[in-house]
Amino acid sequence: MDLYSGYINKLIEELSALPGIGIKSAQRLAFYLINQPVENVQRLTDTINQARSTVRYCSECYTLTDREKCPICSNTARNHETIMVVENPRDLAAYEKTGKYDGVYHVLHGAISPMLGIGPQDIKLKELIHRLEGDVKEVIIATNSSLEGETTAMYISKLIKPVGIKVSRIASGVPVGGDLENIDEMTLLRALEGRVEL
Ligand code: ZN
Repeated sequence: MDLYSGYINKLIEELSALPGIGIKSAQRLAFYLINQPVENVQRLTDTINQARSTVRYCSECYTLTDREKCPICSNTARNHETIMVVENPRDLAAYEKTGKYDGVYHVLHGAISPMLGIGPQDIKLKELIHRLEGDVKEVIIATNSSLEGETTAMYISKLIKPVGIKVSRIASGVPVGGDLENIDEMTLLRALEGRVEL
């Protein structure tokens, strides 16, 4: 990596630390940025800074938003008694795209993975339990069908069932290990409609 000047090396290093960006892509991006007009690069860095400093977790469902409450949680027309639990904001977006779900969400920001050392305390689980003190009739667990997603679903259902709230799991029409965001809307809808009570 000593082929280029220190600043180029530093830029490549920073870019390659981003998820999904290998060293080759990082080099390509770095050279692309260097060749852009200064104001374009400025706009990009401004946007990143603005997003980073204003985007935060919704105080209710923990999705990303730039307000205290996200548009879904602030929408009184939504059914606030049904909470769909998803692993990340991208999964929420996938279900929103179907346009057929009128409940609210809870974003865990991860899944339990003993292998990776991610425990229940590392995801937004106690925040979910806290929400159940309100008026909640059903919790739909829509974590991925990966080992981690299933482990998390089991854990949540064991936690919630004694409280007397209906707990259901989306149907297993969703391919094993498939990220929810890569699944088409029809499959998601079928998974939601075919959910089974745990
Ligand atoms: Zn929200």
